[in-house]
Amino acid sequence: MTEFTRREMLLAFASLPALSGLASNALAAAAPGDLLPYRDGKYVLPALPYDYNALEPSIDEQTMKLHHDKHHLGYVNGLNKALDALADARSKNDFALVKHWERELAFNGSGHFLHCIFWLSMGPSGGGDPSGNFAQALTREFGSVTGFRAHFSAAAKAVEGSGWAILAYEPLAKKLMVSMAEKHQNLTEWGVIPILALDVWEHAYYLKYQNDRAAYVDNWWKVVNWNFAQDRFSLLDSLANEAEKRISGQ
Ligand code: MN
Repeated sequence: MTEFTRREMLLAFASLPALSGLASNALAAAAPGDLLPYRDGKYVLPALPYDYNALEPSIDEQTMKLHHDKHHLGYVNGLNKALDALADARSKNDFALVKHWERELAFNGSGHFLHCIFWLSMGPSGGGDPSGNFAQALTREFGSVTGFRAHFSAAAKAVEGSGWAILAYEPLAKKLMVSMAEKHQNLTEWGVIPILALDVWEHAYYLKYQNDRAAYVDNWWKVVNWNFAQDRFSLLDSLANEAEKRISGQ
């Protein structure tokens, strides 16, 4: 297993709602103050783990800058705003707008969490093929790595409107699944944990690819960070195995 960077470790743990009890000690131990994704009661936009131009030519510098600095920041701000509004509603015992703010929470929260995974799903030395136990798991689930790529690409290209293709880990059966999200929060299998995420909103590719989403998806494989996916899969699988042992009293 390759070594986690501190940021990857943080983000891997930060998005483990189903296993948060197991992960909380490790999160505290791994969290250096300047990289905390949650600080002073607010979610924080994480820095990109590489330069804006690091993914060229697959993804251009201007798209990365706008996408990270403007679009992702908007979701972080929207998430904090929704949580503040819901806290305010509780303090006043006035829930007249609870439906509105819960919708804002789902949209912006899902947007923030998926973008955190998206940046780490790519890297300047990405591409190639997965290996090790992660490649074996992909082969077990999808027939072959090629079969996984075909399924994931087809899902990404078929999203109606704005959304995502996601490779997710389901900890009860310890299965890998391909999911398709519309917007950020719709068409979700509750309980799964994303391992890789591909943003197919137009803001992710339109400057370079215009309407040719398929070309963007095909070129995305040249920057996919298999090491991140491999480490994240190994971590989730070991946590799920640990949880299974505790449940069965072994
Ligand atoms: Mn996006």
